[in-house]
Amino acid sequence: GFKMGIVGLPNVGKSTLFNALTRTAAAQAANFPFCTIEPNVGEVSVPDPRLEKLAAIGKSQAILPARMSFVDIAGLVKGASQGEGLGNQFLANIRETDAIAYVLRCFEDPNVIHVANRVDPLADAEVVETELMLADLESLEKRRAGVEKKAKQGDKDAKVTLDLVDRAIAVLREGRSARFVQREAEEEKAFRELQLLTSKPALYVCNVDEASAATGNALSRKVEDYARANDAGVVVISAEIESQLAQLPDEEQAEYLESLGLDQPGLDRLIRAAYELLNLQTYFTVGPKETRAWTIHQGDRAPQAAGVIHTDFERGFIRAQTIAFDDFVALGGEQGAKEAGKARDEGKDYVVRDGDVMLFKFNT
Ligand code: GDP
Repeated sequence: GFKMGIVGLPNVGKSTLFNALTRTAAAQAANFPFCTIEPNVGEVSVPDPRLEKLAAIGKSQAILPARMSFVDIAGLVKGASQGEGLGNQFLANIRETDAIAYVLRCFEDPNVIHVANRVDPLADAEVVETELMLADLESLEKRRAGVEKKAKQGDKDAKVTLDLVDRAIAVLREGRSARFVQREAEEEKAFRELQLLTSKPALYVCNVDEASAATGNALSRKVEDYARANDAGVVVISAEIESQLAQLPDEEQAEYLESLGLDQPGLDRLIRAAYELLNLQTYFTVGPKETRAWTIHQGDRAPQAAGVIHTDFERGFIRAQTIAFDDFVALGGEQGAKEAGKARDEGKDYVVRDGDVMLFKFNT
């Protein structure tokens, strides 16, 4: 599955947010730095209002949303990249994630200690990202001599890697994340193998005070501008509100949201933002037993989509009956879509579109 790491300085609201996300008390929140030590992984459903519509039309007994994981990665302090304290475990945990959410404190509260005695989300982001950049630089510098040796012996792959390593080092030394390294499509595989932390997509999560949940505040607006200029995603959320919401029964949630001027839980926006940041998309299967959302990458073709259900589906792929979501809904389901000529037979080169309702034909 896909994993989003949650990082940030101590006391910015990571655990509060993570708890709300998973509705558990597993990661204990407390007004004390360094309180979360173990990495915590929580699986969440990806909210998608299309599922209910499909399930109603298909008279499905169950709805199975797409799933993704969040990992609460505690222990980031200045010097983490030097292997001090929790550093190495922290780096190992973050390496396994597909993208990174930086929780940034955008709330003032004299009762909650800030590790640097100031509320400045952009400075916080810089501290965190600098640590990750230093870790990347160190790993590249360690690696460089070996790669250079192989390249001198004429190894073609090593030449490609060496060139990338040098470009990445140059970008990082300018204080910029490795995701800004300019690269060609054919270098992408070698680049991924460098496993650089700052090459992962970034999402800034502005944790604002309760009163600013619907509107954001001056601090979160600064972060939004910064995110836009730096090819990162951004979400404004109040961890405190989300944690209260998560404890309410479903019926009461809507009322509470309305009283705050919100049209949906911030967590739904956060999960959707993470999903989009990872370049993921959804196709559906609809049947009497269940309506289900399946997660694939943007650009995946029909056999790869089938392979998410079962590897046999990919291996024996013949074709896929495909109905666009809008057609499926407008025409009242599969039968109506077939009669209107909107159920397409797609072959192995078909690039799946977000929302496609699919039925695979395959050899076993
Ligand atoms: P972590 O160290 O980043 O995991 O931070 P925690 O989630 O443990 O939060 C640290 C403290 O800040 C706790 O006392 C929280 O209740 C408090 N806190 C978290 N989010 C908010 C918020 O949006 N507003 C206010 N006022 N306090 C918050």
